[in-house]
Amino acid sequence: MTTKGPLSQDLYSELGTIYQHLEKELTLVNPGCNRCGTCCNFTAFDHILYASNIEVDFIVRNVKVPDFNVSDNVCPFLKENQCSIRGFRTLGCRVFYCNPQYKEVLPALYEKYYRLIKDLSRKYNTQWEYLPFLDRLAEAKKKANTGC
Ligand code: SF4
Ligand code: SF4
Repeated sequence: MTTKGPLSQDLYSELGTIYQHLEKELTLVNPGCNRCGTCCNFTAFDHILYASNIEVDFIVRNVKVPDFNVSDNVCPFLKENQCSIRGFRTLGCRVFYCNPQYKEVLPALYEKYYRLIKDLSRKYNTQWEYLPFLDRLAEAKKKANTGC
């Protein structure tokens, strides 16, 4: 279920604020990233990105989702090895760093912000789902195209 109207605007505004707080914390941690984009090719990185439904809806509301095949296992927002939607990317995108020195710090940050986003979902009485990102994105794109 996706909330609509002013209520949903507040929800997505609060989600944006949560992301801003996370970015501030990440700046302090500074795990380092050369933005090579490898981790957005999930097969290359042997990685599954999960995301909540409200995070995927936040993306779909703000950017056009390119046509893509889930089976390619590459994020459709990866353009010339760069994320083309940095302002809207998910918690999992923001907290993932390949630097092994941060393997303890980053999961704690992930957990903290996962809970904040889940609390937000509860606050606005929306359905909560946490699914593989590409599956959820394909579903959301289909719904946006069909209007249902
Ligand atoms: S949204 Fe951006 S950061 Fe996240 S997987 Fe896609 S390209 Fe990578
Ligand atoms: S986290 Fe690592 S693999 Fe991902 S973009 Fe940054 S340097 Fe590349």
